Amino acid sequence: MVKWRGREGSGNVEDRRGGAPVDAGLAALILRLVASRFGIGGLAALAAVYVGLTLIGVRPLALLSGAGAGGARGDADTDQFVSVILRETEIVWGKLFEQAGMTYREPKLDLFAGGVQSGCGFASAAVGPFYCPADQHVYLDTDFFSELSRRFGAPGDFAAAYVIAHEVGHHVQKLTGVADRVAAAQARAGEAERNALQVRMELQADCYAGVWAHWAGETRGLLDDGDIEEGLNAASKIGDDTLQRNAGRRVTPESFTHGSSAQRVHWFKRGYQSGATADCDTFGAQSL
Ligand SMILES: [Zn+2]
Repeated sequence: MVKWRGREGSGNVEDRRGGAPVDAGLAALILRLVASRFGIGGLAALAAVYVGLTLIGVRPLALLSGAGAGGARGDADTDQFVSVILRETEIVWGKLFEQAGMTYREPKLDLFAGGVQSGCGFASAAVGPFYCPADQHVYLDTDFFSELSRRFGAPGDFAAAYVIAHEVGHHVQKLTGVADRVAAAQARAGEAERNALQVRMELQADCYAGVWAHWAGETRGLLDDGDIEEGLNAASKIGDDTLQRNAGRRVTPESFTHGSSAQRVHWFKRGYQSGATADCDTFGAQSL
C-alpha cells in the first residue's frame, strides 16, 4: 500500500470536471459587467451570460436545475491520492534535475470526466490518461481512475501511482528535449519507423516511472513491501501483446506503440533498480 495519507498535495492539479460554486459568482459578475458597460436589455444580457458561462465551461441549464455545481466531482480520496503522487514526483524530479544542473518545470495535471479540450486537441475519456507536450499538462480522466480508485488505500494502489509516474515521465522527456527530437524524426518517418520510435518513447517513460519509484521509496518512504510487484504486474497487463491478445486480436509486433509486456516490465525494473536516468537510454539500446 502506498503511504500517501497525511502527505502534502501538489498545487498543480486543475479540476476540469464541470461547474463549481465559484463559477456562479463569476456568472453574476459577468451579468453585472455586461449590464453596466453595455447597457443592453435584460434578454440580451441573459444571452451574453449564457455564452459567457459556456465559455468558462459551466453548463448553464445544469446550473439552473441544480445539478451543475459539484455534480461531476470525483471522490475526495481519489483526488487527494492523485495530488499527493504528483507532489511526490515534483519533489523527486526537482532534485534529480537540480543534481544534473537543470531546472525542473512542474507540469500541470488536469482531472477531467468524459472529454477535455487539451493543447493537443479534444480528447475523449476513451484515450485514457495522456500527456500533452504542447501545453505540458498531464490529463487524467477520473472515469478511468474510478476503476482503479476502488483500490486506493488497499493493495493495488501503486498501479495508479505508476500510471501518473509514467505520464510525468513523458513530461521529463519534453524537458530534456527528447520528445521534440523524436516528434521531428517521426514526422519524416514511415509508419513502421514511427511506431518503433514510439515504443522507445513509451519504454523510456516506463523506465522514468521506475526511477521515480526508486527515489520515492528510498528517500521519501512512500512505498511498502509489495508495491513494486504491483507496478510490475500493472506494466505486464498493459503491454501491447497482452492487450492485443485480450482483445482477441492477432499479436503484431510491428503495430506496437508501447512495447510488449516483457519490455515494459524490463524497463520499469531497470529504472527502479538503479534510480539512474542514464540507465533509461531506450534509444541507444541494441535490444529492448
Ligand atoms: Zn505513454
